[in-house]
Amino acid sequence: MTHMGLSSCVSLCLPDLFIERFCMTGGSSPIGYLKAWQTNLYLSADAEKVREALSEGIAAATMFMSNKLTEVSQTQLRVAFDGDAVLFSDESERIFKAQGLDGFFQHERDNEDILLDRGPLKDFLASLGKLQKKFYAKGHRLDCPIRTYLVTARSAASSGIRALKTLRAWGLETDEALFLAGAPKGPMLEKIRPHIYFDDQMFHVEGAAEMGTVAAHVPYGIAQKHPHKKSLNTGK
Ligand SMILES: [Mg+2]
Repeated sequence: MTHMGLSSCVSLCLPDLFIERFCMTGGSSPIGYLKAWQTNLYLSADAEKVREALSEGIAAATMFMSNKLTEVSQTQLRVAFDGDAVLFSDESERIFKAQGLDGFFQHERDNEDILLDRGPLKDFLASLGKLQKKFYAKGHRLDCPIRTYLVTARSAASSGIRALKTLRAWGLETDEALFLAGAPKGPMLEKIRPHIYFDDQMFHVEGAAEMGTVAAHVPYGIAQKHPHKKSLNTGK
């Protein structure tokens, strides 16, 4: 399904994972080959290559390993996603930056029935969903070896509804959806114990890594232009 970085990450929990495809590019960028390989996810410690992959429409993230690693399941792959600017576009984040929290809430209420645009990792969640359905077909619904999580700063009562409606319309509901309403993500991720967590904001990536989660940064959206400004995910 995937190759390169994810293979090494997944092999932490799936020691029998075969890594069959690889390339040696003599120091030149491998990004041009990713589409030909039908890559579902590109992970690298090289942020520049990750940005290049995202610009090619490939789901991609920069890896940051934690010094302290929380023990993870050996039998179930758990993947956690932020919502805005990861599964969804950064549309709402832009409204927050321009109009503040009240403007954001109003915008989400006004657009509750309008689906959010796709974000850079939507197709990767869809790929995991396809694998899950294969396990369901074999009777493994409750003990599916893949479990997905939405971990968002949106709140369930208001802005979260639009996110849920969008996922449902895409047919891509995560197994669990956690609406933190601005609370720190690190402690929740410590409980979930995902093998990897994706977020567009370094603040959350660092917060997750500090608490032992393998976190990956998706360098996409408005948060990259103003990384130190108050953001949707930290401002509530
Ligand atoms: Mg976000």
